[in-house]
Amino acid sequence: MKGQRGSGAAGQQNRKAPRSERADVGANRGSPFVQPGPDPSNPLHVQPIQFVGSFPDPQVRVEPELPEIAFIGRSNVGKSSLLNVLVGRPGLARVSGSPGKTTLLNFYRLPGMYLVDLPGYGFARASKGARAGYRKLVNDYLRTRRSLAGVVWLLDVRHQPSNDDLEMQKLLAESGRPVLAVLTKADKLTRSALPIRVHELSQALGLQQDQVEITSSHSKTGIAELATSIVAAAAGENV
Ligand code: GDP
Repeated sequence: MKGQRGSGAAGQQNRKAPRSERADVGANRGSPFVQPGPDPSNPLHVQPIQFVGSFPDPQVRVEPELPEIAFIGRSNVGKSSLLNVLVGRPGLARVSGSPGKTTLLNFYRLPGMYLVDLPGYGFARASKGARAGYRKLVNDYLRTRRSLAGVVWLLDVRHQPSNDDLEMQKLLAESGRPVLAVLTKADKLTRSALPIRVHELSQALGLQQDQVEITSSHSKTGIAELATSIVAAAAGENV
């Protein structure tokens, strides 16, 4: 049938509408296609946000000095996806196909705070030297960063904590910083399996219910609640 497009009666029906006829398209007269707007329950959604830079130095000076909320978790835990839905910017942090590549601190400025994306840990192919370098970077940042107001620690709800997760838990405890454990990818479990896994994971990590947020970047579960906790932590309230 090649070459027959646009000829005869069928071609007439399929003709492209002139501009004047097309003007109504998208005017939302009962169209199911609506522009997703800001989520009013999420205080971080579609706020002005600026990528400040990627830095290798945990003592880097960023101006102005504002409270920082750091995000940390194992590679592939869903950190980039979570950051993107939190602020309602799908392309902000790159959802990676190749985990373990970044070794820099990425700073994003929001009104009144910075979100700091720390590099993911537990990358299986990392060399011993790279692991030591990573540990030093994160440890220095957690221990010495004056403006660090809270840490969002991400864990995949489906898995038991890895050795790297347990090592991170130790670093976080030693740093004395307020930490909120965020369980990611909740949509991957059934309604009945989810609470069982949350309980098992909380037990394994010795966490109370109010220290844990259950989230999914795909279904948006828990995202507005997490955003509210982040705003509170940046304001100096306990996470
Ligand atoms: P990162 O390495 O921690 O930054 O993780 P990414 O955000 O790059 O995500 C790693 C993979 O997990 C990607 O394939 C994502 O699409 C997927 N992912 C992230 N968050 C979710 C989620 O909430 N639900 C599901 N089902 N998959 C997710």
